[in-house]
Amino acid sequence: MSWIKYAISQIEADYMRSADTHLIQLPQSHFTDIDIYFKDESTHPTGSLKHRLARSLFLYALCNGWIKEDTTIVESSSGSTAVSEAYFARLLGLKFIAVMARTTAKEKIKQIEFYGGECHLVDYTTQIYSESERLAKEINGHYMDQFTFAERATDWRGNNNIAESIFKQMSKERFPEPSWLVMSPGTGGTSATIGRYIRYQGLNSKLLVVDPEYSVFYDYFTSGDKTLQSTEGSKIEGIGRPRVEPSFISGVIDEMLKVTDAQSIEAMFWLSKQLGRIVGPSTGTNFVGVLNLAERMKKANKKGSIVTLLCDSGERYLKSYYDDNWRKSRISSDEAYRQYLENIK
Ligand SMILES: *Cc1c(COP(=O)(O)O)cnc(C)c1O
Repeated sequence: MSWIKYAISQIEADYMRSADTHLIQLPQSHFTDIDIYFKDESTHPTGSLKHRLARSLFLYALCNGWIKEDTTIVESSSGSTAVSEAYFARLLGLKFIAVMARTTAKEKIKQIEFYGGECHLVDYTTQIYSESERLAKEINGHYMDQFTFAERATDWRGNNNIAESIFKQMSKERFPEPSWLVMSPGTGGTSATIGRYIRYQGLNSKLLVVDPEYSVFYDYFTSGDKTLQSTEGSKIEGIGRPRVEPSFISGVIDEMLKVTDAQSIEAMFWLSKQLGRIVGPSTGTNFVGVLNLAERMKKANKKGSIVTLLCDSGERYLKSYYDDNWRKSRISSDEAYRQYLENIK
């Protein structure tokens, strides 16, 4: 058997051993006829939605002939993708190097190393792309490039992607076709998969994409200017980019919303309390978007459901977002928004 055949069968076998992630409903009675759900992506073997992406990127690169038996994989990452790719690289016996900002959560660096990956740290988020390219060339490795290939590596028509799974899991709910799906963009890949699936299936659901501060996606969506750049990296790990990533497909998005980092963090804490388990900061960002829609629906006397993602667990951020000193030196609090959240039960 050729090595590529073997590698693909290893990934497929790993997939067979895996279960789908849960769709959990948020217990609340504040929005009486609006049901809110989270697709819990924290339960993948590598702890985030990037498990799906890593699997897809490896299969795509293998089928394209980009990865061989002795290829070293290089990736630019804010952490989560690198953790998942390190897992698959180990599964295939390949060397893996993650190029990340020095500010990446220590827990993620430890996890990458746990899976046998190496971390190559740079001073600024904006350097990870060129450094990955340079490094891959130097060692004759393969630069996986999630920010280009995320949208096309996933089979958006179905084949058990996240969108198909969400709609199937919603089928017995009282509002089975969600009024809205809400997602925050990192690569933009998940938004692209969900948005395309909605269109392809002829569904009435709409897609809201929520952008954090220091990210150019929102401004690109409103202006169409692909050259936009931000000098500072996003403070919400996993989402928000300093440049318009090729994998961000604005045409599949119905609406975008810009939210403050302070709101994202307040929502992260509130959700952690409500769900009885801590969630990551980007899940907070998603939830700010959900609440914005729920308030609008309530005002317009509309009933329905809203689905978003629980992207990863807060366990990864105990020494960052969940550490008072770390957080307070970087992100301000928002008392008014906290008060608002207090009233939602
Ligand atoms: C990557 C990531 C996202 C965004 O997902 P994309 O499909 O890349 O847009 C959100 N939250 C976390 C924690 C992530 O790692």
